[in-house]
Amino acid sequence: MVIWLPTLWMAAGVCVFAGAHFLYVGRSRDSGWLYPAFGLLCLSVGAYIAVSALMQTPQMQASYALLERLHVGLACVVYPVAVWFLASYSGWQGSRPWVIATSLVFGILLVLNCFAPDGLLLAGFVEQPALILPWGEQINQFTGPPSPLAVYFYAATMVVFLIAFRCCWALRRTAQRARAKPLLIYLIVQLVAVIHAEYVTIFGKVTLDWEAIPFLVLVVLLSRTLTLEMRRYARELGRSVAALRSENTARKESQALLQHLANHDALTGLPNWRAMRELVDAALADSKSGFGALLVMDVERFKVINDALGHRMGDILVREIALRLEQVCPDGSYLARLNGVEFAVLLNGIANDAESAATLALAAAESVRRELTQPLKLDAHNLSTDVSTGLAIFPTAGTDCDVLLRQAYMALNAAKAGGRRRVVAFSPEMQAEAERSLRLEHDLRVALEHDDLRLELQPQVDRAGRLSGAEALLRWTHPEFGPIGPQEFIRIAEESGQIHRVGACALSLACTALASLPPQTGSFRIAVNISPSQLFLPDFVESVRACIDASGIDPGQLTLEITESAFVHDVTDATTKIRALDSLGIRVALDDFGTGYACIATLKSLPLRELKIDQVFVRDMRIDPPDRFIRAMINMARAMDMHVVAEGVETAAQRAALSAMGCDAFQGYLIARPMEVAALGELMRRHVGNSMFA
Ligand code: C2E
Ligand code: CA
Ligand code: CA
Repeated sequence: MVIWLPTLWMAAGVCVFAGAHFLYVGRSRDSGWLYPAFGLLCLSVGAYIAVSALMQTPQMQASYALLERLHVGLACVVYPVAVWFLASYSGWQGSRPWVIATSLVFGILLVLNCFAPDGLLLAGFVEQPALILPWGEQINQFTGPPSPLAVYFYAATMVVFLIAFRCCWALRRTAQRARAKPLLIYLIVQLVAVIHAEYVTIFGKVTLDWEAIPFLVLVVLLSRTLTLEMRRYARELGRSVAALRSENTARKESQALLQHLANHDALTGLPNWRAMRELVDAALADSKSGFGALLVMDVERFKVINDALGHRMGDILVREIALRLEQVCPDGSYLARLNGVEFAVLLNGIANDAESAATLALAAAESVRRELTQPLKLDAHNLSTDVSTGLAIFPTAGTDCDVLLRQAYMALNAAKAGGRRRVVAFSPEMQAEAERSLRLEHDLRVALEHDDLRLELQPQVDRAGRLSGAEALLRWTHPEFGPIGPQEFIRIAEESGQIHRVGACALSLACTALASLPPQTGSFRIAVNISPSQLFLPDFVESVRACIDASGIDPGQLTLEITESAFVHDVTDATTKIRALDSLGIRVALDDFGTGYACIATLKSLPLRELKIDQVFVRDMRIDPPDRFIRAMINMARAMDMHVVAEGVETAAQRAALSAMGCDAFQGYLIARPMEVAALGELMRRHVGNSMFA
């Protein structure tokens, strides 16, 4: 039976297979030199065992000398590779000199092995008697006297074993028992093999040459260890990859969520201002899609509903409006919530020319507006909303996203200014208007700094035609544009937050004017116009008092004219201020009566001492029979104990009719146009105590 030789061949095969495997694995792994070194070690051990098998094969006896040389040569490769592998296996820092030294030593031995007459280890060959193994297998082996060089080889191998012991020790010390154990087993087997070889040499016994077996043990045990490690790493890697994947998925999800939140409005889920800008940019960049329109809509009266029903209801209303808008917006349009109750609709590529685009956009905006005016039932409330809409057509020369949005907003402002609930398309005049406003806003600031605002006074007369007072009207002559109407610069002052300074200027000029006018018999008053936002200043009453004190006038000579709009926002605050002014002796007049929305019940509860009938009523009044509407106004004012002044009186007939209805005083071009303070002083001196109409 033949067992030993096939066993050797199998062992060689196993080693070669392991070598190929680890070289392949080491090629793709980022684990340094460990796997390549082990692969090379396995291959060289495989070749070494294969040559051992050949040396014990009876048919190969003739080539024994060559095989012996080859065998020792392979051993000279195995040992330095083993050191290289062990250094890497045990994580030996500073192993490089040892690896180089062993490679050099065994390299020299390899060269010597090539040139020595009978190889490195033997000096001649002696055939040993054939060895019959217990199962009948015959093994032929050679031996011979040792060569003088053999001692160097054995010394070098001893050093390698010592290095192996050192590595094994280092592994145990660093608690890498799983790696230390197979190495220890190999070293024990190797030790036994060495002892056995010494025993055979000393006692001249003929036994089986199994010196290759420890190498096989080394290959098998370490292959197993490294394979197990590899599997463990693979499992850990798998887990890490899975964890990374799920983390990546979670990250992508949260990125998508953040992206959504950044581009959408939380309340309605509609795209927001930012997203709309991107859409507008994209629409403007797409030059082939024809003409489109951007609509900006503002829901009217929302603040009133919000204040009356609370913010929760306000939110529900906003959502409801968004839903309706979504339903009614034309196909292919984009809807966004810009802020508060401002929505935008982008109609892209709706026509081939600007005119048709404007027509279509106006029609779309009207249908949206109509839909939103349909009553809306929220809880127990039946609400009706309305929108003002501004629209701008694109593309036009030089229009970018900002310009387009600005144009749409300018149109929206025009829609609001023109009585609200309208759809207005942007026109170049609006741009010019906006530019003028911006210029005036800046120049008004300069004018205030340079005290360039003047005051004109428009006289008022009583029923007997005697001068009873004057209304102070601010004047501003722009260095380039000439006189600017107060309505325009007061609006700009209100919009740009300069109204407080403008108001203070008017008040101070009026007080100074009053102090400079000739002394009066009876009461002569100057009426100063006060803006609602001026009235809301916390220290408004204080500032009026300070102004009176500074000019030394009698507070009883001052009238402050406020309009009904002062009561729309904060009635309580307005009431407190008016009471405080009244207690100072200042008369508060209700200006432009009948043009606002103030509630009569509110007005009734206030200490308002004067009512000014607005000039629109006077202009359109019927003389014969007398205007019943104006009569009702006068009657109401008298019932509230108010002094009644009619403004815009331009004809004697108007004055006579108003006088007949019980009006107390008159102001208008019939009496005089607004004039310089000095001119009024002159007029007062001329008409002291007698009628202007005498
Ligand atoms: P208002 O308070 O209603 O002032 C009366 C306006 O009617 C003045 O216009 C006056 O010149 C004009 N007017 C007077 N009599 C007649 C008339 O018989 N026929 C016609 N057609 N008009 C007449 P003005 O000076 O242009 O002022 C316009 C508005 O500007 C004022 O309306 C007032 O609301 C505002 N305003 C003027 N000065 C001030 C001010 O110092 N502060 C504030 N807040 N507003 C001011
Ligand atoms: Ca006035
Ligand atoms: Ca007025």
